[in-house]
Formats: sequence, structure tokens, C-alpha cells
Amino acid sequence: MYPRLVIDLNKFRGNLDAVAKITKEDGKCDSLMIVTKSFCADPVLCRMVAEHPMVDFLADSRVKNVASYTEMAHEYLKKTVLLRIPMHCEVEEVVRYVDLSFNSELSTIRLLNEAAKKAGKVHSILLMIDMGDLREGIFFRNEDVIMETVEEILGMENIELYGVGVNLTCYGAIIPKADNLGGLVEIARKIEDRFGIKLQMVSGGNSSSIYLAEKKELPEGITNLRLGESFILGNDTAYLTKLPGTVDDALILEAQIVELKEKPSLPIGEVGVDAFGEKPEYEDRGIIKRAIIAVGKQDTNLDGMTPLDTKIDILGGSSDHTILDVTNSDTEYKVGDVVSFKLDYGAVLKLFTSAYVEKTYK
Ligand SMILES: *Cc1c(COP(=O)(O)O)cnc(C)c1O
Repeated sequence: MYPRLVIDLNKFRGNLDAVAKITKEDGKCDSLMIVTKSFCADPVLCRMVAEHPMVDFLADSRVKNVASYTEMAHEYLKKTVLLRIPMHCEVEEVVRYVDLSFNSELSTIRLLNEAAKKAGKVHSILLMIDMGDLREGIFFRNEDVIMETVEEILGMENIELYGVGVNLTCYGAIIPKADNLGGLVEIARKIEDRFGIKLQMVSGGNSSSIYLAEKKELPEGITNLRLGESFILGNDTAYLTKLPGTVDDALILEAQIVELKEKPSLPIGEVGVDAFGEKPEYEDRGIIKRAIIAVGKQDTNLDGMTPLDTKIDILGGSSDHTILDVTNSDTEYKVGDVVSFKLDYGAVLKLFTSAYVEKTYK
């Protein structure tokens, strides 16, 4: 059935080998987290990741996805991580399914402590520090707040402070550098000195930090990276450079042509707004060969799709249809033919989330 995602496990394994080597050998990190949220913790991919000897943690932003890891054979199950700051309403599930959760709010950590106590467990947390990207974390300049928070956490019987972490290049698009990552390491050392403890992890960010590891410039003291996009698509997300040993076509979307007709490139009549309330712009290409494929904005981001046939242009689409200009292609397409696309991060995320898209493995 189409539309379908073709998941090439050998190519994914190659990407994983490459990013693991960069993180651990070039970046000298102790541990590697692979982030499964972009592929909705697909069980076959998760298992492949979990079996890899250089992966230490499986991480996701949704508890539901983390809970699904436990269906994997026990011998492969790595430590599990919840990346998004927990909601108050989910602390019991967090304690049940997650080994290490990221936190920045004392009220939530207190609830996790109570839930862990009830469950007879000790729950590990990573305290998030905001180094300027302005998404989650205690703001780095508020050192008093950081120290007071750590002091209270250390007094909690059922919470273990596993380490500190930073997230960058998500909201503020701030690029990881020696100064912001170095600043995090400095905060970690201050916490250790002040309280006489050893932090087990200083997590230095996501796929935007791997370029530093590759250049062997990851600041000393950063012991972990959390990688999603660089594993899936083989690029760093700070400068979008392609990482050595990776490919960007481990995941291909295939969609089927349902209509193919010669029509004008300019719509006829007064122009209002399209199905999404936007005013479209058209280019006059004369009469063109227009193919409609059965996949749309409910399943994917049209801007995030690149046809493997480089002579196809994506003209636009609506919820369930994507319209292609196939006029210049060397292939004589017909109704029923399948068109293939490479994908960007946003398209991957939506395609895995869509219940209307099949998944196949090769
Ligand atoms: C999504 C996420 C990641 C992974 O980001 P990529 O850019 O896909 O590598 C890492 N850390 C946190 C906190 C995240 O939310």
C-alpha cells in the first residue's frame, strides 16, 4: 500500500556507526543517547538502535514512546530517557517507565520524588540549564537559583541528581560553541565543588553539537550528546554539514499517482485563499503535465520533500493531495506509477506520526 515509508535498516546502521564514532572517538564522550521521537519510536528501528554496542541510552520526548521500549527483548533494553520536562499529571508514568528524566522545575521534581517513594524506587534526573537558547532550563546567570535547586534535590530521598544538561538550537537557534558549552561545564564543576558530589553526566546538546565533536572541539567535560536528526539524516543541525560516513536517503517516501493530466499552470478565475487560508502564488509555465499523488499536508510537509527524480517540481498541495509538474521528466509517468522522495526532519516527523502512511523495511 501507498503512501509508504521505506526504511533502509542497513543505511540506518551505517549512520549510527558514523555518529557513534564521531561522538565517542572524536568527541571523547562517555555516553551517547539516540533520540527516537522523529520516528515515533518505531519498534524495528528502536531495536536496531538498542542492539548497537556504542549506544547507551534511548531517549524520547513522549512518555508513551518510552513506555513502548519495554516491549523490546530485555537483553537489548538500554537506559531510557525522557527529554521533555515532565507534566505534573504524568509523574507516575515517568517513574514507572523512565530511568532518567530531564527537569527544571522543583514543583515537578518534588512530585517525582513522591511518586518514586510510592513505587519504592530512586528516580534519576538531569537538571537542565538554559545557556541562552531560551527553551527549557534554569537560566545560567541565576546561579543562586541553580544552587538552591540542587541543594533541595540532594535532600530528596528518592531522587538522584545524575547530572546537568543543556539544549541549544531549538527555540533561539543558538549555536553550541566553546563559550556556552564551556559555561555548562563550569556550572557542573561549581555544583560538584560546592556540594562535594560527582555528577555522572554533563549532556552537551543535540545534533547541533556534533559538528564540534567532529572537529575535536567539544569542550572537555562534556560527557554526552543526544542525537536524533544527525542519525536519521546524517547532518549536523548547526551548519547543516553532511557528516562523514552518513547518508540522507535511509528513509524514502513513496507515493502513488492518482491523476495525470495536461492543464495550465495558472488557475482560472478570481484568486481567493487556498485550503489552508493562504494566498498562493503561481508561476506561468504554460500548459504542463500535472501529476497528483495521494499524500498531502495531513501526512507530510511538502516543503520538506525532495523528489529523487530531479526533473520533477512540487507545485503545491492540500490535505490529501500533492501536485507535481512532471513535464520535464525523462520518465513517461502514468497513473498508478510511484514517485519517491527524500525527506527533511519536519517531513519525517509528520510521516511517522500519520496513521495513513505504511512502513516497510529493507
Ligand atoms: C529533540 C531533542 C533532542 C534531539 O534533537 P536532534 O536535533 O534531533 O538531534 C535532544 N535533546 C532534547 C532535549 C530534545 O528535545
